[in-house]
Amino acid sequence: MRKKIVAGNWKMNKTFDEAKALMNELKTKLNNDTSEIVEVVVCPPFLCIPAAKDEFAGTSVRYGGQNIHFKDDGAFTGEISASMLKAVGCEYVILGHSERRQYFHETNHLINFKVIKALEKGLKPILCVGETLEQREQGIEKKIVDEQVTLCLKDINAAGMDNVVIAYEPVWAIGTGKTATPQQAEEMHIEIRKSLENLYNATIAGRTRILYGGSMNDKNAKELLGMSNIDGGLIGGAALKADSFITIIEAAK
Ligand code: PEP
Repeated sequence: MRKKIVAGNWKMNKTFDEAKALMNELKTKLNNDTSEIVEVVVCPPFLCIPAAKDEFAGTSVRYGGQNIHFKDDGAFTGEISASMLKAVGCEYVILGHSERRQYFHETNHLINFKVIKALEKGLKPILCVGETLEQREQGIEKKIVDEQVTLCLKDINAAGMDNVVIAYEPVWAIGTGKTATPQQAEEMHIEIRKSLENLYNATIAGRTRILYGGSMNDKNAKELLGMSNIDGGLIGGAALKADSFITIIEAAK
């Protein structure tokens, strides 16, 4: 049985005080009643992670970063290391988000280094994969996603996979209001499980949690999360309002 995850990717939104207020609202409204059924994860901007440490102390809400550098430390101006996130209580880190692939030219090869470093330092990567609209129109979405999964998980052994979560996020659905249909998403999640079976085995393919991301909101979450291979959601826009995020968490139960 795969425990569902609902993770919020706040992207570059919220000042420290705004983040603290939203976290506090979430905490109050959630009333700590989700831990047994759904894992709730909040990934705010780096600066707001100490607020998450404060606000979510003693609750079941976990938190994480949106990126790391692949090196331990050193002369990498503006970067954040896995150890820094771990030291402030992060459990998760989003890696390979399509916005990082698109705007910061992150390749599968680089993302693979980050996945390796995250696991080495005790962080659980939420590895994002997904095709562009152009690739879907060319009918190569399965090939692209299989390649992303394979290359980003290079040198990750079976034990490492216990701590990896995959997020299928079709690029054409992120922040666009266009959601994949539950059937389209389910089909791709099954393909990702096939890739994992080829890379590892059926047990690992069967127990790895695969989230859907791309304009999931309080209206469409129930149907998407009702598909048997969708193990939760990575939520962007709808994670910025406590009520929408909580409705999605409820839908995951
Ligand atoms: C995301 O950024 O991971 C995402 C899914 O965004 P949105 O929900 O806004 O499409």
